[in-house]
Amino acid sequence: MDSLDYSELAVPGVRELRPYTPGKPIDELEREYGVTDSIKLASNENPLGASPDALAAVRAALDDVWLYPDANGFHLKSALAEKHGVASDCITLGNGSNDVLVFLAQVFLQPGLQSVFSQYCFAVYPIATQMVGAEPVVAPALPEDHAAMPLGHDLRALFERVGPDTRVVWIANPNNPTGTWLDGQRVQDFLASLPGHVICVVDEAYTEYAESDALGDASTWLERFPNLVVTRTFSKAYGLAGLRVGYALSNPGLADLLNRVRPAFNVNSLALVAARAALGDQAFIERSRRMNSAGLEQLRTGLERLGVAVIPSAANFVLARFDRTGAELDEALLERGIIVRPTANYGLVNYLRITVGTEAQNRRLLNALAEIL
Ligand SMILES: *Cc1c(COP(=O)(O)O)cnc(C)c1O
Repeated sequence: MDSLDYSELAVPGVRELRPYTPGKPIDELEREYGVTDSIKLASNENPLGASPDALAAVRAALDDVWLYPDANGFHLKSALAEKHGVASDCITLGNGSNDVLVFLAQVFLQPGLQSVFSQYCFAVYPIATQMVGAEPVVAPALPEDHAAMPLGHDLRALFERVGPDTRVVWIANPNNPTGTWLDGQRVQDFLASLPGHVICVVDEAYTEYAESDALGDASTWLERFPNLVVTRTFSKAYGLAGLRVGYALSNPGLADLLNRVRPAFNVNSLALVAARAALGDQAFIERSRRMNSAGLEQLRTGLERLGVAVIPSAANFVLARFDRTGAELDEALLERGIIVRPTANYGLVNYLRITVGTEAQNRRLLNALAEIL
């Protein structure tokens, strides 16, 4: 049985896939390195945890876990519809927004078709494209020495790669792993210029953290752009990464297609109640945003003092450029009980992506780097 060549059996898109690289869990670090009291600044989680309201809702719902969840997510969708001023049938719920990104690929891509994304974009876009056998088309990012937005999405380069076989363009605003962002007006101009056969996904996973209004809110553009899909998540500012909830906003006809491929019970019952309660606690989001802004500034000034270049970020992490490899620094930080994210898998070899932590965690990271450098 072992002689079976599974790879030969797999469909070509899957055979060529390289799996997503997650951040190292704290447990694993402590086991492997024999350290304790470690901190994780690797997965863009909220250092404040989750809203107490969300946690209370989960506890209250525990006794009902023997029941299947509401396959339609009625209450959560109603709350989201109210928040965004759209009808419930504009919403597609996901097991994290990763889930809805996969639905988009399943609905709009197949062998012979293409999706377009930027160099240094979120790793899930190429994975979703390849898993359904479609062709990934990479637009070069803005150069490393760009004055305003190094490594950012280049809308012109993206537009130039759209052709007759393109069905999806993926844009993250702000982007992960770079933290860079796009001006909302320019994204709207880009949307207006796209041909009608191209779906544009605007992934707003970090939008709650953006201090600037310049990014805009793509969910308010849906009426003007029938080919627009906006994705949001409860994993980042809402602090519910472990429960896995995200969603897409789109015109109802498009949402209907996404919901056809959605597994009926993809969002579990605890996640549904937690997300709904978290939405109601906007004071927590405010607190998270304020703490993040202070932390971004602390990391930026601290890193620059160490001679490290920092890419501008509107998210809850920074991408920092060093004069040695990220892998080497990552190892030295792990020995000191600090997990960050090396970015060599994105082609960013001399970089590390560092999630904004609490004031004390940021200080510990900066002190450790001062020692190492
Ligand atoms: C984290 C992230 C997501 C979503 O993650 P989920 O936990 O699956 O909701 C989506 N897009 C980007 C750019 C991200 O960084």
